[in-house]
Amino acid sequence: MTIATSTRLADGRELIYFDDGAHAKSHTALDTRPLDARSEENTGELRYDALTGDWVAVAAHRQTRTYLPPADQCPLCPTTGANLSEIPDSAYDVAVFENRFPSLGPAVGTIPQNPAWGTIGRAFGRCEVVAFTPEHTGSFAGLSQERARTVIDAWAHRTEALSALPGVKQVFPFENRGQDIGVTLHHPHGQIYAYSYVPPRSEVMAAAACMFYDAHNGQATLLGDIVRKESESGERMIAQGEHFSAYVPFAAHMPLEIHLTPHRHVPDFAALNDAERDELAVMYLDVLRRLDNLYDTPTPYIAAWHQAPLDPVLRPAGRFHLELTSPRRAADKLKFLAGSEAAMGAFINDTTPEQVAALLRSTPGTLTPKADLL
Ligand SMILES: [Zn+2]
Repeated sequence: MTIATSTRLADGRELIYFDDGAHAKSHTALDTRPLDARSEENTGELRYDALTGDWVAVAAHRQTRTYLPPADQCPLCPTTGANLSEIPDSAYDVAVFENRFPSLGPAVGTIPQNPAWGTIGRAFGRCEVVAFTPEHTGSFAGLSQERARTVIDAWAHRTEALSALPGVKQVFPFENRGQDIGVTLHHPHGQIYAYSYVPPRSEVMAAAACMFYDAHNGQATLLGDIVRKESESGERMIAQGEHFSAYVPFAAHMPLEIHLTPHRHVPDFAALNDAERDELAVMYLDVLRRLDNLYDTPTPYIAAWHQAPLDPVLRPAGRFHLELTSPRRAADKLKFLAGSEAAMGAFINDTTPEQVAALLRSTPGTLTPKADLL
């Protein structure tokens, strides 16, 4: 069982320690840094793009954020006498805290409901950082099964808490791994965004899910149907458990793309039961290790945990799942999202999902030590 301990940083931001059940720690250390109180006035703005109907968060204050600090000044390492980090304790397992340089928040609330060109709203929401381990080097794939399970409990805890904040429409846990895709801190970590609007891709996916759900009178779900078909075909399947299946999707957008989908229709992390969380820890590590074992150097990736939107109309059709993507198309080649993809949203994939699935199936999901990516 994971034990959560909540505290506050010097500027008022919340920090929560999540300890592996067998190693519960007492967290009493105080943040002694002379930080100014965090102000809700610092919340950035949302601008409405009338051309597309999208909201854009304008966060000029983030330009001053920490960028690739040296290891002895890492903000995610446990605090030492020489490094007063974001995590005051000298030891922890997993820690979650509010981002000091958030794109969304810290204020929460409801954004304008009938926007048009020129509409500006406040960038309500919440951005949190999840430190997966006190170790400065390594990656999620190198975590123990017990620690991965603690992170899953942390994601579930935060999903439930952030979903309850006023105006929050979507909670999105994710990890960017690798400098190639914009990582600004080496220490293994992920993030959680709580949006005050349904992000564009979630909206598109929710519309497809709702259309299928309604056409089947609420008796079948789109992702449930897809995971069943992928299971029957087996062509793109990578690994299957009792509660989850990992496969390359039929119409993968990226050179490396893996979906990890629960067999039961659950909306989010918080709704997973213990048996599902246990298996998810095993299968997520398996998938990440296969990805890392493809090449001699670690593969950059985006791990995107899709959860059902909180809107009561959209939510019943939405199923929790992971979409793990990498732009890597060869040992020394990355796919760049250029004209067709970036400008038109029209993807061209140079690999076939079936070939990629066969490759990932034959690659062991065991831990292989690697030089640090950065
Ligand atoms: Zn560190």
